[in-house]
Amino acid sequence: SAVIGVLALQGDVREHLAALGGFPGVRAVPVRRPAELAAVDAIVLPGGESTTMSRLLVTFDLLEPLRARIADGMPAYGSCAGMILLADEVLDGRPDQQQLGGLDVVVRRNAFGRQVDSFETDLAVDGVEGGPVRAVFIRAPWVEKAGADVEVLATVPALTAAGRDAGEAAGRVVAVRQGGVLATAFHPELTGDLRVHGLFCRMAREAVAGRR
Ligand code: GLN
Repeated sequence: SAVIGVLALQGDVREHLAALGGFPGVRAVPVRRPAELAAVDAIVLPGGESTTMSRLLVTFDLLEPLRARIADGMPAYGSCAGMILLADEVLDGRPDQQQLGGLDVVVRRNAFGRQVDSFETDLAVDGVEGGPVRAVFIRAPWVEKAGADVEVLATVPALTAAGRDAGEAAGRVVAVRQGGVLATAFHPELTGDLRVHGLFCRMAREAVAGRR
């Protein structure tokens, strides 16, 4: 089975551990130390606050080892702040914000926050079967630019779940995948709809099976 770590420095760690916990063939564990990181097959970077998390990554001696694992092909999934950490480039980041990188995108931090702090919408997500995913955005980033190797999995529809005009958010890219790296600007860990986690569990199991 695949061991999936959840970076447990800040943010909605418990929600991700709970979301992953029910899937067959995976074990979900919190990661706070380099030795714990070394023992996982895949990693989830939770939602929270990307600047705080990046500072804690430095404090806990995890920034370089995590960068190296991701660069080496370890599957990684980031939601919201996690998407920001995985992006190769961030707009509107804090000056001391560090990137893990691995995802050839430019994201804009707090992009939705300029018009609405949080909103919900139903999104069709490529690779997720069974109808649209309820997406919760909380001071979320969006992807402004994606490299040629990045698959766009979802964009914001013109109307939000409440029937409001999505305005500037309409058409924005909010879910992407590049090889083993998956990122969503929204928080499936907060909705009880675990299909995005299901997709990542599949990616993690496949990566483990491929190594054998
Ligand atoms: N705005 C946060 C950041 O910059 C992300 C918000 C979230 O993860 N819900 O990191």
